[in-house]
Amino acid sequence: MRLERAELRRLDLPLRTPFRTSLGLELRRDILLVRVVTSEGEGWGECVALPEPGYSEEYLDGAAEVIRRFLLPAVAVLDDLTPARVASALACIPGNPMAKATVEMALMDAWLRARGVSFADYLGGVRGEVECGVSVGIADSIGDLLAEVAGYVDEGYRRFKLKVEPGWDVEPVRAVRERFGDVVLQVDANAAYTLGHARLLAELDNFDLVMLEQPLPTADLRDHAALARRLRTPICLDESITSARSAVDAIALGACAIVNIKAGRVGGYLEARRIHDVCAAHGIPVWCGGMLETGLGQAANLALAALPGFTLPADIAPSRRYFSEDVTPMITMGDGLIAVPRGPGLGLDPEPEIMERFTTDVATLTEF
Ligand code: MG
Repeated sequence: MRLERAELRRLDLPLRTPFRTSLGLELRRDILLVRVVTSEGEGWGECVALPEPGYSEEYLDGAAEVIRRFLLPAVAVLDDLTPARVASALACIPGNPMAKATVEMALMDAWLRARGVSFADYLGGVRGEVECGVSVGIADSIGDLLAEVAGYVDEGYRRFKLKVEPGWDVEPVRAVRERFGDVVLQVDANAAYTLGHARLLAELDNFDLVMLEQPLPTADLRDHAALARRLRTPICLDESITSARSAVDAIALGACAIVNIKAGRVGGYLEARRIHDVCAAHGIPVWCGGMLETGLGQAANLALAALPGFTLPADIAPSRRYFSEDVTPMITMGDGLIAVPRGPGLGLDPEPEIMERFTTDVATLTEF
């Protein structure tokens, strides 16, 4: 397979409910989709970078520039492209995992569509449906939080994840646990604490949480291991796990008992699968995180979450959790489950009319 053309498409898709980023900014869901045209057909990739750096160093305009100037030219020189060859073709460019994952996803989609194989079958999925959890942001008050969680309980989500930060941790978690009884509950700190908060974080042991996700800064694996020795609540790593290699290190240090896998954070779906494999070999459960993707990105995530080691509910939501209209047919949830797409490639096609209506810019590349 050869890359012949590419299209970088930007969309401004309104979010149904405001979502506050780690920089405190309210998020418009500015989206970058990459459509590749190859010698064997077309494919779509979605970039999960947010408009500004915060979750990690990457941000959307930067990722678009890297994809256009460096990544697409690096794969365009190959005339025997396969999904497995993409990462090695891009390895000469350090970092930029979200940009790299976008290019891999688009080429994998094209390659699999041409062969009539689904993402799930290619990655090794064994499950027809994925259990869905919901991620709940910092609320203005505990009353607002309880009202929001009540809505998600009614919608049938299987697990509830509360974002926490210093000043918004023990009391909101206590309130949700007391109000909603034995729901499956976990918290995510997005690296907001230090080891000096260990005593405070140990208070969360009272609430029977499935996990405490990424309590400490990304690079602090030894501190996570030290914290893990002081808590009963299992520690899950998200931002710290950037590759299968880093997963091996974290597990060997005792820094985590659970791993959140996001293909964008680790450079693509094949590296994500390797992390799943490493964790499975060590008996570490994994689950699929989310970055407010459109239906295209969610389709790929559903395929990943169908792998056997993904034994905890995913941050994969029905389209209506984020958007009134999605760029694919709306993904729906029934009884807290979403079906894994079975068609070739991503198994979902963009809706051209909706895509056009929300597009703000298209750059077509024919020479690399
Ligand atoms: Mg997280």
